Amino acid sequence: MENGGLSVVAVRKMKLTPKAIIVQKFGRNAQFTVDEVQDVVQNGCPGLAIPQKGPCLYRCSLQLPEFSVVSETFKKKKDAEQSAAEKALEKLGIDPSPNVPSAEEAWDKLIASVKHLFSNEFLSSQSPLRGHFIAALRRDGDLYGSVPASVIAVCDSKLANLCKLINPKVESSHLLVLTYIMRAATRLSEFVVTSEGQLSIWRKDPYPPEIKESSIIQQSESPDSICIEAIHIPSSLEMAVHPVTLNVSSTGYYLDVIARNLDQTDGNKILVSSRTIGKASSEMRLYFAAPKSYLLDLSSDLPNVEEVVDFEGSLNPRASYLYGQDIYGDAILASIGYTRKSEGLFHEDITLQSYYRMLIHLTPSGVYKLSREAILTAELPMAFTTRTNWRGSFPREMLFMFCRQHWLSEPVFSTCSNSLKESSESSRFYEKSAALESAETGKECTSGGGTAASDNVRCEVKIFSKSRDPILECSPKEFYKKQNESIENASLKVLSWLNAYFKDPDIPLEKLNNLVGALDIQCYPQNFFKKFSSYRFIHNVQQRKMGEKLLQANSINTLNAIPEHGIYCLSIGGPDSGIYPSNGCLSFISYSVSLVIEGETMKELLESREEFEFEMGTGAVIPQVEVVTAQMSVGQSACFCKELPPQELILAAADDSARTFSLLSSRACCLEYHITLLRVTEPPEDRMEQALFSPPLSKQRVEYALQHIKESCATTLVDFGCGSGSLLDSLLDYPTALEKIVGVDISQKSLSRAAKIIHSKLSKKLDAAVPCTDVKSAVLFDGSITVFDSRLHGFDIGTCLEVIEHMEEDEASQFGNIVLSSFCPRILIVSTPNYEYNAILQKSSSTIQEDDPDEKTQLQSCKFRNHDHKFEWTRDQFNCWATELAARHNYSVEFSGVGGSGDREPGFASQIAVFRSRSPPEEDDLLKDGDSAHHYKVIWEWDGNGLSRSSL
Ligand code: SAH
Ligand code: MG
Repeated sequence: MENGGLSVVAVRKMKLTPKAIIVQKFGRNAQFTVDEVQDVVQNGCPGLAIPQKGPCLYRCSLQLPEFSVVSETFKKKKDAEQSAAEKALEKLGIDPSPNVPSAEEAWDKLIASVKHLFSNEFLSSQSPLRGHFIAALRRDGDLYGSVPASVIAVCDSKLANLCKLINPKVESSHLLVLTYIMRAATRLSEFVVTSEGQLSIWRKDPYPPEIKESSIIQQSESPDSICIEAIHIPSSLEMAVHPVTLNVSSTGYYLDVIARNLDQTDGNKILVSSRTIGKASSEMRLYFAAPKSYLLDLSSDLPNVEEVVDFEGSLNPRASYLYGQDIYGDAILASIGYTRKSEGLFHEDITLQSYYRMLIHLTPSGVYKLSREAILTAELPMAFTTRTNWRGSFPREMLFMFCRQHWLSEPVFSTCSNSLKESSESSRFYEKSAALESAETGKECTSGGGTAASDNVRCEVKIFSKSRDPILECSPKEFYKKQNESIENASLKVLSWLNAYFKDPDIPLEKLNNLVGALDIQCYPQNFFKKFSSYRFIHNVQQRKMGEKLLQANSINTLNAIPEHGIYCLSIGGPDSGIYPSNGCLSFISYSVSLVIEGETMKELLESREEFEFEMGTGAVIPQVEVVTAQMSVGQSACFCKELPPQELILAAADDSARTFSLLSSRACCLEYHITLLRVTEPPEDRMEQALFSPPLSKQRVEYALQHIKESCATTLVDFGCGSGSLLDSLLDYPTALEKIVGVDISQKSLSRAAKIIHSKLSKKLDAAVPCTDVKSAVLFDGSITVFDSRLHGFDIGTCLEVIEHMEEDEASQFGNIVLSSFCPRILIVSTPNYEYNAILQKSSSTIQEDDPDEKTQLQSCKFRNHDHKFEWTRDQFNCWATELAARHNYSVEFSGVGGSGDREPGFASQIAVFRSRSPPEEDDLLKDGDSAHHYKVIWEWDGNGLSRSSL
C-alpha cells in the first residue's frame, strides 16, 4: 500500500495540457487558428502529371497578446493545437510540467472550498449538493440546517480530489474524505458549527430570509411524498437480502428515512458509498450506519491521519463486495439523490432481481451472461475466434469493466509486433491500432508456410491495483494478424482465469493454474488475495444439491442420460434433417429454461429467447446446451433437465426473485431446458469449398479415394480421422471389392453421427434386392490415430483425408511414423489443404459473398481455412514431410490433389500424397494381431447380418 505510485495517480489526474495552461492564463486573449494543409506527396512515378493527394494535415497558429507561434503539421487538429501551445509556453518560459498543489496548498484549498459551500451564493448554485443544503433547512428540531458530512464527501468530487492530494490513501479508503472535511470545518469556526463526535456541519448564521425562501420555493415544486423500492442487505450471510420500501414525505429528508430503516435516529449517522453501484449513470448507492468508533478525533492539527479508525461490528460481505470497499453492519442499496440533471429529488426503484444482476455482474462470466441477456444459458467463451463470430461484450471491454468495478487500475496492454518492431504501452489502443492495420492491409499475403506469415502481433496484459501493486500478468505466446485480435485474445485469457477463480475461490492457486491450462498467467498471490479473498463469501455459497427424489419422480431414461455432463431426461424429437452443427459454425436456437419444482406440475419460466445464436465449439453456452445442440439436426427439438446452477444466477434471471427465492429454499428443484435448433451457418471452410468447386471438394476427395480403391481391388479399408463418416458412407454407394470398412476418430460426437448414417445405409442395402456393396463388416473405433491398435494392422488401404492439419505438427509426424511402421497399410492416402491456395479462396470468397459483408471479413480474418486447423502447409512443406516419411519406412510416394490444377500456380486446393508399401505383404499379419495392442474402443459394429452393436 505504501507506494509512491499513489501520488502519481493523483498527479496524472490533475495534470493540465499545454493548451489548458494557455487558456487558463490568457483566456480569450489566446486565439487558436487551425488550418488544413494539403501535402503533395511524391508518388515515385516520374512523369505522372497529376499530383497525388496526401493525407489531410493540420497546422495551428496561436495568437497571444505579445507574440504568436505556428505549430508543425499534424494528422489531428488537437495535436496541432497542443503543439502550438507547447511552443508558446516555451517562449514564455513556463514549465508545462504538472502544476500540482502541495499537500499544504491542497489543505488550504479544501478549507476554502468547504467555506464556499456554506456561503449564500451556494444555495443558488448548480451543484447536486445544493439539494441537500435546502433539504437540511426542512429538517426538524436539532437537525434543522445540519448537513451530513457524508453527502458533502460524495457529491463534491473536487473536495475528494483535494483530499487525495493531502493523503494519497484516500484513493483506497474513501471514508477518509469525511475526516478531512470535518477537520476543515473545525478550522472555520467563524462560519460553521460542528460538534464533537458528529458527522455533520451547520452554518453558524442563518441564511438571509430572501435567499432561503427563494430556494425553498424552488424546490417545493417537487411532488408530494414518494415511495421507492430499495434493497436491504443484512451483514449476516444467514439472513436473506430483501426489498424494503422507503417512504419519503415531501418535507422529509431522504437520508433520515434511510437512517430509520437502518435503526439509526437520523441521516447524520449514515455513510454513503462514494461511488455509484452498477451503471455509471445511476444514482444507486449503498447507505450504512457510521460505526460508533468512527467518531473522529478532530482535535489533532496535522492533516495526515495515518490510520483509519478500527471498525467494530461485523463486516457486511455482500455490501462490501458490491462496493469494493469494506462496509460494516447492515446496508441499504437505494437509487435516490440530487443530481445535476434532475430538478427535484431523483429516485428509481431497485428490484431484488437487479440486485442479483449487479452481484453477478462482478464476475467475468456474469458480465458476459448479462451482455447476452442469457443468464442461464450463455457462458464466457473459452476462445476468441473472430470478431464476427463473437457475440455479446468483447473481452477487452469486459476486462476494463471488471477492473473498474473492482477498484483496480485500468488494464495495461503492451503489444509487440514482429515485423514492424513497434511496441506501445497504453490502454487506449484503438487509435494506434488503426494506423497499424492500415499499414498491414497494403501488404500482400505472402506464401510463407506453417504459421501464416502475417501473424506477427502479440499482446501482454498487466493488471495493477489502484496503488500500482501488480496483481496479474498475462503473456500469451500466440501471434495474431491484427493488433486488436491479440488484445481480445489476451483479455479473454485473463477473464477466463479470473472466472475460474470466482467459480471456486477456495481452490489453491497451483490447482487453479492447472485447471485453466496454458493461459500464460502469472499471479501475484499476496496482492491478488488481498484484493479478492473475501469474495469467496459471496459466490456459489448456497449451491443446492438437486433433490434425488425429484429425479426418481421424473423417471430418468438412463439410456439417454449423459451423467458426466449433468444432463438428465434428455429427449430429442423431430425428423433428422441431416444438417448438423459443427465446430466453428453458428447455431441459431430458440430456447426456454424453467424451474421445475418437486411435486408441482406448474413450472416457473425463468428465461427464454426466440432466437439466440452462438459459435459451436467455443463454450459460448453452458456445456449442457452445447453438448445437446451438437447432437441435434436442424429442425429438431430437445428437452432435458440439469442441476441448479448457483442460486444467484437463478435469482438474477427470475422476474419474481422473491417468490423464486422462497421456492428454492423450501423445495427440491431442477432446471428444464427446451431447445429448438433453427438453423446453422457452415464453417467458412465448407462454405468456400462448396461455393468454389463443382463438385464440392469433399466429393472430389471421395472420388479420388474411390479410384484408388477400385484400382487396387482393396477388400479392407481404414479411414483415419473418419469424422462423421462422409467417406465411409459414400463408399457404400459404389460397387467395390471392399468387404470390411473401419473408421477411427477421437470425436465421440462425430462417431455417433457416423454410426447413425452408416447404420441406416447398411440397413437399406440389406433390404434392397441388389446390394451394390459387398461390405460385410463395418466398425467404428474411438481412439487417437497417433496410437497404434493392432486390430487395424495390415489393411489394403488407409485413408486420412483432411485430418493431419487438425493436429499439432509433431502429432502429424507421429501419426505418419506410426501408420507406416505399425499399421502398415499397403496404400495410404493423405490429404491436407494447400496453404498457397488460400489467397484464391479468400479472393473469390469476397466476390461470392457480397451480400454478407460480415461473412466476408470473417473469411479474411481467419488465418486458416478453419479455426480448428493447427497448421496449413505449402506444397513444399507437405512434400518434405511425405518424402522423408516414405523414405524412412520403405514406402514410395506420389503427389497429386483435387480442386484446381497441379500444373498451374498455386497448385491444387487440397494436396494429396499416395504412399505405397515397397515391402511384400507380410505373412505374420495374424501374429501381429496376436500382440493385441487394443487401445481403441469399439463404438459401433456391424456384422453383415444386419446385427449391430453399439456402445454409444
Ligand atoms: N476425414 C473426415 C473428417 C475430417 S475433419 C472428412 O474428410 O470429412 C478432421 C477429423 O479428424 C475430426 O473428425 C477430428 O475429430 C479428427 N481427429 C483429429 N485429431 C485426431 C486424432 N489424433 N485421432 C483421431 N482423429 C482425430
Ligand atoms: Mg480440415
